[in-house]
Amino acid sequence: LNRRDFLKGGVAVGGAVAISGCTSSEVESVNINRGKKVRLRLATSWPDSFPIMGTGVERFARRVEVISGGSLIIKVYPKNRLVPPLAVFDTTSIGQLDIFHSGPYYWKGKNSAFSIFGGVPFGMTPDESVGWFRNGDGLELWRELYGKHNLYPLLGGNTGPQMGGWFRKAINRVEDLDGLKMRIPGLAGELFSRLGVNSVLLPAGEIFMALERGTLDATEWVGPALDKRMGFHKVAKHYYSGWNEPGSILELTFNKSSWENLSSEHKEIIEVASNELHSEMSQNFHYENGLALQELQKDSSIKIGSFPDEVTKKAKSEFDKLIDRLTSENSDFRRVWDSYSSYQSVVRQWTDLSVKSYLNER
Ligand code: CA
Repeated sequence: LNRRDFLKGGVAVGGAVAISGCTSSEVESVNINRGKKVRLRLATSWPDSFPIMGTGVERFARRVEVISGGSLIIKVYPKNRLVPPLAVFDTTSIGQLDIFHSGPYYWKGKNSAFSIFGGVPFGMTPDESVGWFRNGDGLELWRELYGKHNLYPLLGGNTGPQMGGWFRKAINRVEDLDGLKMRIPGLAGELFSRLGVNSVLLPAGEIFMALERGTLDATEWVGPALDKRMGFHKVAKHYYSGWNEPGSILELTFNKSSWENLSSEHKEIIEVASNELHSEMSQNFHYENGLALQELQKDSSIKIGSFPDEVTKKAKSEFDKLIDRLTSENSDFRRVWDSYSSYQSVVRQWTDLSVKSYLNER
């Protein structure tokens, strides 16, 4: 059969030729989808039209609707429209929502192992960590552990490398961190606490004012693009690069029954669209951060640099102790950490020889 005959045949007998390469179960589900509209509700932890993260999810939903020929409709609700931003996990777990978009680091109180899926201080770069999910055991472990909460996670984006944060006063030595009140969540927050910082969590809307008034001494947020919109540079003039979040993963997580009830084509459509969401978000962050950094660099009152070596060295040794504690406390954490760190030890040497050498030479 040449291509021309194949196409002619396809026209003549309708769908039969077009699906001739599929297995019988797939053929059945092609028929199941005909004329049936599936509607799912997705809540995010972000404000309405939140740049890059929120808008990425909205684009994902539109893509799914178009690719599915209008048979799969995902309605996106920003934070507080249906549920508060950090209630999305539980609400989806009990089936009152079908999907949520958020970050796994928010759920470390439920299981410390979840924080590894979101990203780890001194951990893998965005590309390396996505490889752990896809080539290593990352996705399998994530689905197993979330499965206990009746959830099924997919990759939902990557913030790229995050900054260490904005400080009202310069950090020249470890002692300068002592007693500082800093907004910093997750494993990174625990790590900064070990460096003497008093780490706190504040709602996004309150951070700027607290920093302006001096009731907060420092805050990390994301990177130049989103930080600049928060206006932190107007009230805290020292901006440091970081090792706290080298490439944080975001999640697109389904209620397990909502996922299992989908046809195989709808599952495939969502898998493909979630991979696109993931890579597109990384690229958007990289470009938008570049543009915003150029703007921040024009303001000579802003001092942009890296933490002093002694701070980074101390942070690394404290991080090892933190991991020792978490692996001894929680067997889930130990399993996920073993998988994560052994994958990292494989790809790291190649990253160092290829990317790191090149970046030093560029
Ligand atoms: Ca952050």
